[in-house]
Amino acid sequence: MYKSVDATVMRQFNKRTVLNVLYKRQQTSRVSISRETGLNRATVSSLVDELIAEQFVQEVGLGTSKGGRKPILLRFNANAGYAIGIDLQITHIDTVLTNTRREVVYQNRLQMAVHKKPITSKLLHTVLTEEVRAATAVCPKSPRGILGVGVALPGLVSYETGRVTYLPNLGITDWSIAADLTQSLQVPVAIDNDANCGAWEAFLSTGIPNLLFINAGIGVGAGIILKGQLHRGRDGIAGEAGHTTISTLGVLCSCGNYGCWEQYSSEQALARYLREQGGGQVDAFAPGFVDGCIEAAQSGNQAYIQSWRTLAEALGVGISNLLQILNPESVYLGGTIAEAAPIILPEIQRVIRHRAMFANKTVPVSVFPRETVARGAAGLAIARAIDMLPTHAR
Ligand SMILES: [Zn+2]
Repeated sequence: MYKSVDATVMRQFNKRTVLNVLYKRQQTSRVSISRETGLNRATVSSLVDELIAEQFVQEVGLGTSKGGRKPILLRFNANAGYAIGIDLQITHIDTVLTNTRREVVYQNRLQMAVHKKPITSKLLHTVLTEEVRAATAVCPKSPRGILGVGVALPGLVSYETGRVTYLPNLGITDWSIAADLTQSLQVPVAIDNDANCGAWEAFLSTGIPNLLFINAGIGVGAGIILKGQLHRGRDGIAGEAGHTTISTLGVLCSCGNYGCWEQYSSEQALARYLREQGGGQVDAFAPGFVDGCIEAAQSGNQAYIQSWRTLAEALGVGISNLLQILNPESVYLGGTIAEAAPIILPEIQRVIRHRAMFANKTVPVSVFPRETVARGAAGLAIARAIDMLPTHAR
């Protein structure tokens, strides 16, 4: 039995299809869109006119023709509007302002002095509001202005409800962050887990449909893309790989368990390895901790070199476990730990060759730059605002 589809819904669906074609192509024409989508020319023309009126699409001159009228070329207006993406970590906040193609036009890293004040949701609300206002102040003039804000968070959060369930290393629970920020900023705010944002950005920028994004900083998490979709699991909390056990009688974790992977492969682990090497009171929460550890290793300090090696081995073990389960095409490393790539990647790859099986031994592992998670968060805001990027929601 067939049900009639509401005409408005159908038009919205077709408009999204047209916008997707325009987004994918550098330049195209109404005729080409009609050919590519199977929509008739009158429908395409009407939808394109609407998109031009909304300033998402521009006419940019005439194309070539094998006879007959030359087609008017159309281009997606990447600067129709902007989005703000925020990567909230324990020791810092990365903010980017991007256009609708997620091209970064402004970025900022704010170090958080975590020891000076306890980090509460109230304090974070204030800091996030200030970061959004700073990015908004430098936003170029555009027809649509700020389309939205995306916030990536280190922990259990609900993409659908915009609520934080639990941020382990901050000790924050049950926070209606998206609603709170939407109210004070007066723009739509969307949230997701930080590794999910990184994975999604990795997928959008590489097009690889099966990949793993490991976000390693104070904590460790994984974002999983399977068949071009973000894998969220039943309760939206898939990818909490940092809290899988790699040592049954191991170090006590902030989640309450013992021997979690992140206790061996995060900044906190690095600080502990250094203390065990006689490094005195090393503090992972101190500003510039990772940068200092990279410099020390590069200048030949053996305690630092050994600590990085131990951390890389643990990262390799956890990644090998994930490779065995998921068999992805690529693994990407992000977060502050990824900034030590030249020091740690060879060891990670050695462990994978040793521990993973068959084709998993040769799955490439590479790094993404520091703004990746924030860009993914901006992409989330764009997708929410104009329904154009591949869906992040499912
Ligand atoms: Zn844990």
